[in-house]
This record gives sequence, C-alpha cells and structure tokens, in this order.
Amino acid sequence: MRLIFKNLNILRSIINTINTSFEIKEIVESAGNNLPNLFEFSSFGVLWKAESSLYLFQEESCPPSFTQEVAGNMARVFSVLGEEPDDLSRITLQVEKRKLRPSHMVMDPKATLKSYLVLPLAVGEEIIGSISLNSDQPNAFDAQDLQFFSVIGYQMAATLKHFQRFSTVKTMAIYDPLTTLYNRRYFEERMIVEAQKSFYGGSFLSLVMVDIDHFKKVNDTFGHTEGDKVLQEIASLLKASVRKKDTVARYGGEEFILILPEAGLEEAGMIAERIRRLVENTLFELGQARIHLTVSLGISNFPGHHARSKEDLVKMADQALYDAKRGGRNRVCVFHSIQG
Ligand code: GH3
Ligand code: MG
Ligand code: MG
Repeated sequence: MRLIFKNLNILRSIINTINTSFEIKEIVESAGNNLPNLFEFSSFGVLWKAESSLYLFQEESCPPSFTQEVAGNMARVFSVLGEEPDDLSRITLQVEKRKLRPSHMVMDPKATLKSYLVLPLAVGEEIIGSISLNSDQPNAFDAQDLQFFSVIGYQMAATLKHFQRFSTVKTMAIYDPLTTLYNRRYFEERMIVEAQKSFYGGSFLSLVMVDIDHFKKVNDTFGHTEGDKVLQEIASLLKASVRKKDTVARYGGEEFILILPEAGLEEAGMIAERIRRLVENTLFELGQARIHLTVSLGISNFPGHHARSKEDLVKMADQALYDAKRGGRNRVCVFHSIQG
C-alpha cells in the first residue's frame, strides 16, 4: 500500500511537470529524468507528428540499432490505429537524441531491444504521436506499468495538442522579433522553473547579464538600423556560445541575460569570458565601416551568492554588470556582496 502511495506521488509530480512545461523538449527531458523513479527500463522515447515530419526524441546513449527498432515500433501506432496506413514511408523521421537519463544510467552500447510498451498519444480521434518505454530485458513491464504509463501518455497528449494549437501565438509571445532570442517575459517564466529546480533541488544555477559597451555611440554614428544589425549579430554570438540547456534572452534594449542551469561559478565564468572575447574579436560591418565592439558581463550564482529568490539572483547579476562597467567595461565581473 505504501509503495502505491509513493508511486502515485511520483506520478503526480511527473504529470505536474508535463502540465507546466512550455516546450516539448522540456516535457521530454523532465519525463525522461523522472520516469526511472517509477519504471525499470533502458530507454524512453517520444514520437511527435508535426506537419509532415515525425520527431523522435530518444535517449542519447541508445545504440543506433536499438533506436531504429524503437522508431519502427512507435511509428507503427499510426497504422495499427488506422491512420495514414501507407503514408509513413513518405514522412521524414527526425531523430533528436537527448540526455534523457540521469548520468549514472547510460545505456549499454550492446543492448538489444527485448520488451517494450508503446502507447499512442491521442486527443479524441486524432493521434499526434506515441510514447514508449523500452527494455533490454524480456518481460520488463506489467499491467500496473501500463496503467501508470497511460496516465502519463494522456497528459502528454493533452499538453502537446495544446502546443500544436498555440504554437504561432506562443512564438509571438515568447520571442523577441528583432533578435529572435527569447523575450523578457519568457525569461521570467523560465526563471520560475529553473529557480525552483535549484532552490529546492540543490543544483547550481548561474545568471550572466550582458550589456553592449557604448552602444549609444553606434546608434549616433551609424543610425538605428545599423544598431539593430549589431543587436542581431551579438544575439547570434550569444546563442552560439552557450550550451544546449541554457536560455539566452533579450532582457532590455541592448541588454541580454543568460540562464545557465547546473553551472557553477567557474563554468559560468568560462562561458562569460568566451562571450567577451568572441565579441571583442568580431569585426562588425556597419555600412562602409568595420568596427570593434565590446560587452560587459555580470555573473551571479546560486548557491554561491546566497540569493534567496530569483529576483535576488537577477539583481546580483545586474550589480556585477554595474561593477564591470565601472571597472572600465569589456570585462566580466562576479557578484560580491561587500561593495568597495
Ligand atoms: P554603456 O557602456 O554604459 O552601456 O553605454 P551605452 O551607450 O551602451 O548605454 P546606454 O544605456 O546609455 O544606451 C543604450 C542605448 O541602446 C540607447 C538606445 O538608443 C539603444 N537601444 C536600445 N534598444 C535599441 C534597439 O532596439 N535598437 C537600437 N538600434 N538601439 C537600441
Ligand atoms: Mg544598457
Ligand atoms: Mg550599454
């Protein structure tokens, strides 16, 4: 009885995460990392149909032949249930490999598929994809696994359908049109999730606030349109400098903010310094001119700086950025509590 309670609680927390996700990759990653608390399996997969592509999200350590077999089983859901019986061969399958298991649970490269559970992701009559649990052990799943997995599938289908319906509206709501970075609003929403993960889960979380040095001069000398181009170029440099799990957002006019989950001070410092150097070494073409620009960066870290809220952490990064400006610009400063 107690075990069922424990499992129901885990199930509830998985459902809750799915429910409050903003993106499919978030659903896939959080589910992948939490499912091992509930089931014993080798790999977890999500297949999602979007327009004429099928996207398969699969654990990155899954051996290729294993992945292929899983993909076949998952795609078969469509034909078994009478949808697009012979169309599947014409649909492109895009495999996105992600780290979907805690680090100590990487798959054996010699693993072969011995048993699996595949469930359709269905909303009413429509099938929008499938999910699977796959094992290198025979008979790995029982009736209770199937029941629990169905509840997860039901919630995932509902949330994914919601994403499909609102993808255009959502795009407008979370992206900055000039730079195509996430906007401030998305940053705030993302911070709720990341701060909760760190403050309650105990993992590192770093923020890097970035501000272009003397940007007003660029506008004054070359005009606002050229200034806009600089913002776009710096935005791509930022995107290219971070890890997959990081979030880069336009925080204000010529200010950007990076959320670096699981990054300690040293790692955040390396990323920030890489950005500083990259911008410093880039030649920006503005009309006929080629100019050098620099940025200043401020870092804050949880738990290093004892922030008590996400707002605290943002203020600390901002304070560090202010120090970088005051210290002469084109530099990275880390927050320190006693101001000299
Ligand atoms: P500092 O080194 O202290 O940061 O100097 P700065 O000139 O960069 O700072 P300041 O805050 O004085 O100026 C920021 C400028 O950024 C002012 C504003 O015209 C410009 N700006 C803000 N948003 C945009 C935008 O969307 N496009 C363009 N072209 N300029 C923008
Ligand atoms: Mg500024
Ligand atoms: Mg500036």
